[in-house]
Amino acid sequence: MEEVAPDVRVRRAMALRRAASAHYGRAGSLAGVNLHSPLRPSWTCTGCSAPWPCQTRRGQLLASFDSTPVSLTLLMGGYFIDAAQDLHAESASALYQRFMGWLKQ
Ligand SMILES: [Zn+2]
Repeated sequence: MEEVAPDVRVRRAMALRRAASAHYGRAGSLAGVNLHSPLRPSWTCTGCSAPWPCQTRRGQLLASFDSTPVSLTLLMGGYFIDAAQDLHAESASALYQRFMGWLKQ
């Protein structure tokens, strides 16, 4: 695997997040690839319709950031902030558990 600084990984992940949201947010798949991306503002998974991050996406993220868990925490923190702006009816505690509670300590 390519060695890159954690901040570079976060920037790349954020760019992918923006691109996925802009291009695939409605359809959830492209050429048969299931992206398990968040559909805003409901924050449901475009791949399986579960609350995002779904179990599949959590597994993908943990595998992708296995050597840089702090970068994953920063990335999920960004999602948590975005989701808090969209999901007003959810309690902060529930949102925190959903977006951050499953991360490795
Ligand atoms: Zn999914």
